[in-house]
Amino acid sequence: MQTTEPKTCIVCGQLKEEGITVVTEFICLSCESEMVRTDVKDEKYPFFVRQLRQIWVRFHV
Ligand SMILES: [Zn+2]
Repeated sequence: MQTTEPKTCIVCGQLKEEGITVVTEFICLSCESEMVRTDVKDEKYPFFVRQLRQIWVRFHV
């Protein structure tokens, strides 16, 4: 009984088993590590902000 239910990552929209849950939203490991590396000046940054608008403040502070 060690089945991990895949969850839908709010960033990439794919079903992943490994990741973190921030408040009520699931972010997969690869997106989480990518966000950590993403600089504010990076063109991907607005994309992440848009995806995470609801939880970004808590996550980023
Ligand atoms: Zn993801």
